[in-house]
Amino acid sequence: MPERCELLNKCGFFLNFKGNSEVVKQGWIRTFCESKEKSEKCKRKEIRRTTGKPPKDNMAPTGKLL
Ligand code: SF4
Repeated sequence: MPERCELLNKCGFFLNFKGNSEVVKQGWIRTFCESKEKSEKCKRKEIRRTTGKPPKDNMAPTGKLL
């Protein structure tokens, strides 16, 4: 099994929005969270790195707000 994003268990987006219909439709979890390599392109991860704080939970990995 490929390695997943290391932030999964503390990411507010993943924890609170993984069942959201828009999130499911867009396939963001599959596209970003379930691959360590692809998660490096996640805007949420980038913001956490640059600011030291997680973005609001409703921000998707693409930066789009739900
Ligand atoms: S939304 Fe981004 S930071 Fe959160 S689990 Fe998915 S890839 Fe990781």
